[in-house]
This record gives sequence, C-alpha cells and structure tokens, in this order.
Amino acid sequence: MDEVVQPFEAEVGRVLEIVIGSLYKERAIFLRELISNASDACDKLRYESLSKPELLGSDPKLEIRILADPATNLLTVVDDGIGMDKDELAANLGTIARSGTARFVQELTGDRAADLKLIGQFGVGFYAVFMVADKVVVRSTRAGQSRGWVWASDGKTGFTIKEDDQPLPRGTAVTLHLKEDAKEFLDAARIREIVRTYSDHVAFPIILEAKPKPGDTKTKAHEPQQINSASALWARPRSEISDEQYEEFYHHVGHTFDEPFARVHFTAEGALSYTALLFVPSHRPFDLYDPKRRHGVRLYVRRVFITDQLEELLPRYLRFVSGVVDSEDLQLNVSRETLQHGAVVQKMRKQLTKRILDELARKAAEVGASEAGPAGEGEARPNGETGARKGPTYLDWWAELGAVLKEGLFEDAENRAKLLELARFRSSRGPGWVSLADYVARMRPGQDSILYVTGESAEALRSSPQLEAALAKGCEVLLLDDPVDEFWIPEVKEYEGKKLISLTKGEVDLSRIPDEGKIETPDELWDESLKRLLAKLKALLGEEVKDVRPSKRLRESAVCLVADEHGLDFRLERFLKQHHQLDRLSKPILEVNGRHELIRRMTAMAADPAMEQELAELARLLLDQARIVQGEPIPDPGAFSRRMSAFLAKGLPAAA
Ligand code: ADP
Repeated sequence: MDEVVQPFEAEVGRVLEIVIGSLYKERAIFLRELISNASDACDKLRYESLSKPELLGSDPKLEIRILADPATNLLTVVDDGIGMDKDELAANLGTIARSGTARFVQELTGDRAADLKLIGQFGVGFYAVFMVADKVVVRSTRAGQSRGWVWASDGKTGFTIKEDDQPLPRGTAVTLHLKEDAKEFLDAARIREIVRTYSDHVAFPIILEAKPKPGDTKTKAHEPQQINSASALWARPRSEISDEQYEEFYHHVGHTFDEPFARVHFTAEGALSYTALLFVPSHRPFDLYDPKRRHGVRLYVRRVFITDQLEELLPRYLRFVSGVVDSEDLQLNVSRETLQHGAVVQKMRKQLTKRILDELARKAAEVGASEAGPAGEGEARPNGETGARKGPTYLDWWAELGAVLKEGLFEDAENRAKLLELARFRSSRGPGWVSLADYVARMRPGQDSILYVTGESAEALRSSPQLEAALAKGCEVLLLDDPVDEFWIPEVKEYEGKKLISLTKGEVDLSRIPDEGKIETPDELWDESLKRLLAKLKALLGEEVKDVRPSKRLRESAVCLVADEHGLDFRLERFLKQHHQLDRLSKPILEVNGRHELIRRMTAMAADPAMEQELAELARLLLDQARIVQGEPIPDPGAFSRRMSAFLAKGLPAAA
C-alpha cells in the first residue's frame, strides 16, 4: 500500500529553507546534530533502564556507529538508544518540537548574517541533514517494543511513516542519500576530522565503518574503528580541554551554536561532591520568556544522565545557563520529584549560583576600566590581553541578557548585593551603560539619593520634563526602560545607603544641590499670586487631578505630571492595569513651573474675574499637554485640538 505523505508543520518548511540556504558553509554540522541526538538517545535509555533493566535486553552496549558507503552514496548514523515509536517519529521529526518556533520564523529577515545569528540561538537540530541529503530515511524501534517504523522524507514536501518489516532490535538508524555535491562526507578521513572537531566529547564510543570507493582495489575496507575519546568532557582535567572542545560541548548541551560568553568548570569536594560545567550564552536565547522553554542544565549521577528537567538546580533568573552537573552523592535511582526539593540539590543550587555570579563579576571587571571613561565610551572594548578570540564584552552581554539577570534583584534576596554590582543602566549622562558604583562616585555635592525615571524607552526618557531640574544641577539620572525595573526597585529601595528616588513620583527636593553656584530656597520659586493660580487650577480641573502644586523639578517645561508619593509609579500602574490587576489608574498630581513665562502670565489672569473662562480652557490645555509628554492618552483629542488652535490664533497677527 502506498503510504500518504504527511506535510511538515508550516514552520518546518520555512526553517528548512533558511537552514539549507544560509548554513551552506557550515553544513558539516549535520553530523554533529545526528551524533548529538544519538548520544541523547543513549543517555535516555541508560536512565530508563535503571528502573527497567529489561529495556537493555541481552545487549547492554550503548554506542554510535557511522556507516559510509561510497558505492551507494549512503551515510548512516546508528545508535542503540531509546528509539522512537510511530507517534514520536511524527511528532519529533515532523514538527519543530520547540517552543517559540513560530516567533523564530517571523524574526528571520533573509539577511544571511542576521539569520545565521538567529539560527545559532535556535539550533536547527535534525533538519540540518537536508543540507547534504536529498532523501533521508529514519528507521527506529523504541526500546522495549518489537515493532519498528520507517520515516522517510525529501525535506521538501513532507514525510511518510510505515512499519519496518525488518525492525532494528532497538534504537535509531538515520540514512542520508547524499546530494551530488556532498560526497566528501563519505570519506573516512573527512568523517574522522568532523567527529574530532565537533563530537569528541560524546561520552559513548563512536565507531566508523567506512567502505572504500568503488574501483579502489588498493584500500581494503576499514576495520570498524572508534574515532572519539568517549569520555565525559566535564570529567577530564581542565588543562586537557581546549577552548574549541568546550565550545563544541556547549553547542551540544545548549542546542545552539553561538559562542559561550562565559563558562565555569569546577569540582566540588567535601560535604558535597560533584562536577559542574556550565555555560552562559552570549546571545539571548530566542525563547527565554517562553514558560515552556526547556531547562538548560542536565543532571548526571556518576556519569549517568538523570534528567534535564530539574528546574530547582538554578534560580529562574539564570535560566539562560546551560551545561552539566554530575553528582557523586545522589542515588542513581532517585526520582525527579525527590530531587526537586532535596537538600543536595538546594545546596548545589546555592554554590552554582555563586560561581556563575562570580564569573560574571570577573567579566564585568574586565571592562571596568573603559566603562569608567567619559560617557559613551561604555561600549568600548577592553584592550586587554584576552588573546585572539575577541568575544563580546560584559556590556554587550548585559545588553542581551541583563534584563533577565535583573529578575534576580527581587527573586534572590541573598544575592541581591552581588546582582546590584552586576547591574548596568542607561543614564542621562550619555549613550553608554553605567553601574551603581559609578553613579554614586559621581553624585553631586548635596545629592543624597540615586535619581531615576522609568518608561518605555531610554531615549524618550532622556527628554522627560521631570528631569529638567536634576539635569540643570548636573545630577545624573538613571533611565530605566525594562519592565522588570518596576518590580525590583520597590524591593531593593537603596544602594549603599543611597535611596533610589523616582523623579516622576512624590515630592522631589533638589534644593540642597547647588545650581550654578547658588543654592535656591524653595520660596523663591513661588509667591502668593502663584498660590492663587494653583488653587484656581485645582478647582477648575476638579476630578482630573489629585493636586496642583508648584514644581521643584521643572526648568524649561511649564507643567508635568507626577505620581503620588504613597501610590504606584506611572509605569507600574499602567502595567498592572494592562494585566487586569488594577481597575483604574489613580489621579496624577499636576506640577507647575512658577518660572515659566506662560505660568507667570496665567497668574495675572487668575487675578482678573473676566478671564475666568479663558483660564479654564488653558487649564485643560496644560493638563492634556502634560499627559502627552507622559505618554498617556488624552481623553478628548478633539477638544484638545480645538483649544490649541484657538489659543494659537490669539497669538498671531489678525487677518487683514
Ligand atoms: P533537539 O535534539 O534539539 O531536540 P532535533 O530536531 O535534533 O532537536 O530532534 C528532535 C527530537 O527528535 C529530539 O528531541 C528527540 O526527541 C528526537 N530524536 C532525534 N534523533 C533521535 C534519535 N537518534 N533517537 C531518539 N530520538 C531522536
């Protein structure tokens, strides 16, 4: 019976196209992907066999074989691992079983370099085979089952699945019908080189069986030969592992192929014995905010893979970390549930977190020198002797992943101080990043708090009216534009005894900070006539504002809005309302700049009963203006526009 071709999931087709198009130069990675899957399959079987030894049957050996046959143009990778049943074949190889795939596809631009970076973060896995093969056949038998299945595809239309009439005893064989231009991958020397480069760390033996080319009578068929060292990379001494080997291992555990930004590799001895090899990526994984994202750290017990689902092994804000933790203390047959909250895992979590944060701090210190330079040089690369491999700096890294690390500021009170030192911020000082330590070192005489504003984008925040007085006094203002900022600030409250003060909330008094040589007294900002105007405005605006008061934070602008001292800051309120955690926004306070020409003229109007109507119109206009600057919607844009035109017309010469 002819089997029906099942189409690939929509995204798969698109991913295949991109992969084949953009990864041509890197196409040897297909072999790494196959070996990586084979190794995972062996790991999974070894784990399942701990509780069900019968799964291994009479053949407990776990290995990976590569068969190359130039006569038929076939390259096959075989493993004795867990295998896949019919449904698993369809689900795993017909869909990209990865959260966020649709978003990944949307983000592809068609620009090779940009797409390559994305694909690096995504990891194309099995589909890499279609770079070198025009047909792929996967035969698989799930361990413990007797029926086997054959999956076949040309990588274009879709795939077929039928029952295998000669099923493998267990495991999976992936056979590639190589394209004309991909025959190099049948050459024993080439295969050996690829495996050594990309897959030497694989802990199972990789055996090569390569047949000679047809007509080559001199070369005898190669004896099957093991071509990797088959020892767990993390268990080898650090001095014997090259950067390249570390990087390849990272690609395997992280399912990516970007460069790691940092790594920690250590063996803990004493109360708790384990080895950890962990990597921090240089780019933000594309699915970092996806709750279904797979966990990056694998737990082994004495070299036996146990699980890659142990969320408790690291705090959530380090969810970008990938790698391996291999325990000497745990029981092999420990259940995941027992592990999750067990004391051993909790202790390891603490130590692993410390190691990662310490390594990040070391990286941050590398750029410390250039960061302290003039504003804008924060992005400069260190000219240290870090060798030829010029990776991203800590600041590049922070731009990618800092927002996630900041989640730790409210989640992890124990490491808060460390995280505060690691945090970098945009500031009014220039385009670069600043640390809190830098900020404090630059505080103005008389300044006793750290000033900040929060909003959608640092660029827009730079010109907020609420910053005017602070800037005029030479104070630096942090421009916080990550949503997470709203959540850690209320928890953290201060740094080195300096309070974090929002310029859009409550009273801000900067009068003790000298302004161009003189300290202002609050009284010079307003007088009796201003007070009268403010009282009038308050009566006119009635329900719309909580209060109208003179501003100590404005210089050039006439008005601005601020949030109540005891309420929530603007952005947090808006955020909570969007997420239906708040019914309505609270009333803002309208602050008025007593030195502004417009306000001075209005004080005169306030004394004249004939101007009452005009003043009411102006009051509305001012409030709407303040809302616009704040990025708030104005309730009646039509009325705003009419008022605006009316007042503009008054200022122009009359028509002839
Ligand atoms: P990834 O390995 O990153 O999950 P792949 O596209 O390489 O993505 O593979 C998809 C899934 O197919 C794997 O997660 C695994 O469940 C399954 N798979 C692939 N190759 C094998 C194999 N040799 N044995 C068992 N399962 C496999």
